[in-house]
Amino acid sequence: MLGNLGKNLTNTMKKLAGMTIIDEEVVKEVIKDIQRALIQSDVNIKLVLNLSKTIEDRALNEKPPKGVTAKEHVIKIVYEELVHLLGDKAAEVEIDKKPYKILFVGLQGSGKTTTIGKMAKYLQKKGFNPALICTDTWRPAAYEQLRQLTESLNLSLYGDPNNKDALDLARKGLKEFKKQDLIIVDTAGRHKEEKDLLDEMEQISAVVEPDEVMLVIDGTIGQQAKEQALAFSKTTKIGSIVITKLDGSAKGGGALSAVAEIGAPIKFIGTGERIEDLEVFDPERFISRLLGMGDIRSLIERAEEIAEEDVDAEAMDAMLSGKFTLKDMYSQFEMMNKMGPMQQVMNMLPGMGNKLPKNASQVTEEKLSKYKILMDSMTEQELTHPEIIKQSRVKRIARGSGMRNEDVKELLKYYQVTKKAIKGFGKRKMGGPMGQMMR
Ligand code: GDP
Repeated sequence: MLGNLGKNLTNTMKKLAGMTIIDEEVVKEVIKDIQRALIQSDVNIKLVLNLSKTIEDRALNEKPPKGVTAKEHVIKIVYEELVHLLGDKAAEVEIDKKPYKILFVGLQGSGKTTTIGKMAKYLQKKGFNPALICTDTWRPAAYEQLRQLTESLNLSLYGDPNNKDALDLARKGLKEFKKQDLIIVDTAGRHKEEKDLLDEMEQISAVVEPDEVMLVIDGTIGQQAKEQALAFSKTTKIGSIVITKLDGSAKGGGALSAVAEIGAPIKFIGTGERIEDLEVFDPERFISRLLGMGDIRSLIERAEEIAEEDVDAEAMDAMLSGKFTLKDMYSQFEMMNKMGPMQQVMNMLPGMGNKLPKNASQVTEEKLSKYKILMDSMTEQELTHPEIIKQSRVKRIARGSGMRNEDVKELLKYYQVTKKAIKGFGKRKMGGPMGQMMR
């Protein structure tokens, strides 16, 4: 996707990951690579320069959080700034009324009709039954194209190739489909003059009163997408943008960043000609994929979170070496909580997923607090030598904590299982950010 942009950025990240020392020279080289890749993808030069400056400032001045290497920190900065370039957060479509009306606008050739088909299928899969209205009176083939589309998806279509009044078509279509849960209105993509087209969009919008206007923009036009989005947004309130033809488009990065720059919500991207080739656009996921980062993001985030807290290294060592008492478990509970459910942490380490017994990973926060209350009723000796806890002690602990004998037994069972699992865990050498963090 996006021509060479992904390949170039992935190579840069690989190069960075292979460096032993991260100094000013390395940071500058990385930035040069990123600049080259982005400019090739038609990202606006001003945006590229801003981004470069921010990356450089942050990489050279921000101190990596404890437990995070300089390299991981720079990777994280590059990732964050690229996500920012594409608008940070994913915007979602919320269909919250009936009928929900979506008005599609966009220039001819942008991929509007194709995208309508993709959207209809996407929404159909979500359990809706979209009905389509064709108001394109300019392109004779438009109705036919939609007819075939709706036929193959088994959806209703309203249109009349002999009617040349777009507003009338819109009105009649809406009347026909007023009991439908979702209505998609297609519009013309061309007029004699661009102004006429934009005027018509304004009028149709007034008739349809759409809940959402989706603007389709051809990704191959690169940074010009900004002007197009601005022109349409003057006539009607654009709620979503779909950037099409990002498969193989060399200028896709330019289109995405230009649209994000004006704060327009890119909700979907078109990634091919087939009806399935529509993706929900999420800048974070998109950039991780583009950088070939996979799960690095979550690992780095988690490493950072833990580094922020003062991890008790001694207790961690004891835990990993297998000398693990109830007392250790008590002090480790909070840290485990910060790392996330054990199973989730393990799943992110290559070859470690599924190594933890099921019941050991299923400790919820609620259980953790229950266990803590139980442990508060234990003596020091019981905490450091849990093997001495037999029937009478179980009873006393249960009474003291206001819980049942079974609760104490459950805690002891959990302790045994965890101890066993952790012993295995400690024996394995861990590489990568998690390894760094654990050492
Ligand atoms: P409209 O005039 O805006 O309705 O455009 P169409 O839907 O007819 O699409 C114009 C051309 O772009 C067609 O050949 C489509 O197959 C193609 N197209 C649309 N979306 C995509 C996409 O995401 N990727 C690729 N490669 N082609 C697309």
